Amino acid sequence: MEHKLYIYNTLSRKKEQFVPINSPYVGMYVCGPTVYGDAHLGHARPAITFDILFRYLQHLGYKVRYVRNITDVGHLEHDADDGEDKIAKKARLEQMEPMEVVQYYLNRYHKAMDALGVLPPSIEPHASGHIIEQIEFVKRIMDAGYAYESEGSVYFDVQKYNKSHHYGELSGRNIDEQLETTRALDGQSEKRHSTDFALWKKASPEHIMHWPSPWSEGFPGWHLECSTMGTKYLGEEFDIHGGGMDLIFPHHECEIAQSTAALGHESVHYWMHNNMITINGQKMGKSLGNFITLDEFFSGKHQLLTQAYSPMTIRFFILQAHYRSTVDFSNEALQASEKGLQRLMEAYHRLQQLKPSAQSTVDVKGLAAKCEEAMNDDLNTPVVISHLFDAAKSINSVYDGKGTISQEDLDNLKAVFKLYAEDLLGLRDEQAQDSNEAYKKAVDLLLDLRLEAKKNKDWEKSDKIRNALTEAGFSIKDTKDGYEWSL
Ligand code: ZN
Repeated sequence: MEHKLYIYNTLSRKKEQFVPINSPYVGMYVCGPTVYGDAHLGHARPAITFDILFRYLQHLGYKVRYVRNITDVGHLEHDADDGEDKIAKKARLEQMEPMEVVQYYLNRYHKAMDALGVLPPSIEPHASGHIIEQIEFVKRIMDAGYAYESEGSVYFDVQKYNKSHHYGELSGRNIDEQLETTRALDGQSEKRHSTDFALWKKASPEHIMHWPSPWSEGFPGWHLECSTMGTKYLGEEFDIHGGGMDLIFPHHECEIAQSTAALGHESVHYWMHNNMITINGQKMGKSLGNFITLDEFFSGKHQLLTQAYSPMTIRFFILQAHYRSTVDFSNEALQASEKGLQRLMEAYHRLQQLKPSAQSTVDVKGLAAKCEEAMNDDLNTPVVISHLFDAAKSINSVYDGKGTISQEDLDNLKAVFKLYAEDLLGLRDEQAQDSNEAYKKAVDLLLDLRLEAKKNKDWEKSDKIRNALTEAGFSIKDTKDGYEWSL
C-alpha cells in the first residue's frame, strides 16, 4: 500500500506512520456506547472521528474490519452516585426488561448515527452476548497469576502486574498517584489493593443482570468486554484501538493490563483518542443542565438552543476541529458552521453546472494533493475543509463569470469534491435531499388522488392525472395494492 498516513499514537505520544500488521487487512476496535439513554454529543464525536478513519483506510485500499462494541451489561464503576447498574436502574424505573432498554436505546442510537452520516461498523458485538468468552478470559488471567478470587468476585492484581510490566504506560500515571485518586467502591475490602479492579463481580440479590460463573452468579467487569471481544474478532494482536480521551484511564489502561496478562504480550499497535466536547466552555453533565441529546439538537428543543441544527451541521462542526483538539459547542459556533456548510454545498452544486473554457484563470491545481496531505497528517479534517473553501471561491468566481476553468481543471475539481466532501468527510446536501423528498411526496399525492378518482369511477380525472405525469416523464405502473412510479 503506497501512502504516507501518519496517526498520533497515544501510547508512544507521537505521530507514527501507519503500517498494518497484515496488509491489506486492518483490524480496528472502537469503544461503543453504553445503551441506557439517548445519544448525545459525547457519542457523536468518537463515532464521527473513527468514521473518518474507517472511510479513509478503505479509500487507501485496506480491507478494514471495524468492531464497535455495545456495552449492555451495567457496571458499578459507571455509576458512582448510587452504585446501581444504569441499565438495570432504567429497567426498574420504567418497568422494562433490561434487554428491552438496551434495544430501545440501541435503535435510537443507530438512527442518530445514520442521520450523522456515520457508516455502520463491520461487527457490533454486545457485551451480554460474550459472557462465556469473558469468563474464559478471566481464567487465562488467573492462570497467568495476575488475578485472584475473593468472596465470589475476581480482581486483577495491579501491584503484581506492575512489578513485571508498566501499569500506567498509556495514561502516563503511576500507581502511587492512582492510589490517591481511586474511588471507594462496594466490596473495597475484598480487594488486596485499592488499585485492583474487578474482572468478575458477584451480583447482589437486587442486581437484575447476572450470569453463572465458576466464582459466583455475577457479571463481568466493564474493562473486560473490550479485551475479550477485541481478541475474539481481531486476534491477539491488532492494529488500531480507539475511543474518547476520557477512556484512557482507567478503561484502556486496564484493557492493556488484562490483555497483556492473558496473552503474554500487548495486543494493540496504535491507540487513538478523540478529545472531548464542551458546551459554552463547560463540561457536559446532567447536573449542569447542559446535557443536550442529539435529538434535541436536531429538533432545537432544549433551553440552551436558539434553533434546531441539522445532523450535517453537527457533523461539519465536529470535523471543523481536529479530532485531538477540544470542541466547544455554542449557538454562535453552530450557526457559523451551518452557514459554512451551506456555502460549501452551494459551491458543490454550482460546480456541476460550470461550463469549461479553453483556459483556466482560476488556480485549482494541486488541490487534490493538498487535501491528501492533510488527511495523511493525522486526519487533519479542518485543513481539508479550508482547502475545499478555497476551491469554493474559485468555483464561485467562474460561476459569476469573473473567471474561467479548463475541462481538465473542472474534472479534477469535481473529483476532489466527490472524494473529499462526499466520500471521505461524508457530507450530504441536506437541502437537496429535503427537496427530493418533498417532490416524491407530491407525486405520491397525485397518484393517491388518481386512485381515489378511479375508485369513484371518475375516469376523466384519473386519466388526466396519469397523462399529465406521463407527459412530464414519469412511468406509472398500476399494481395490486396501488401503484409504482419512476422518472
Ligand atoms: Zn472499551
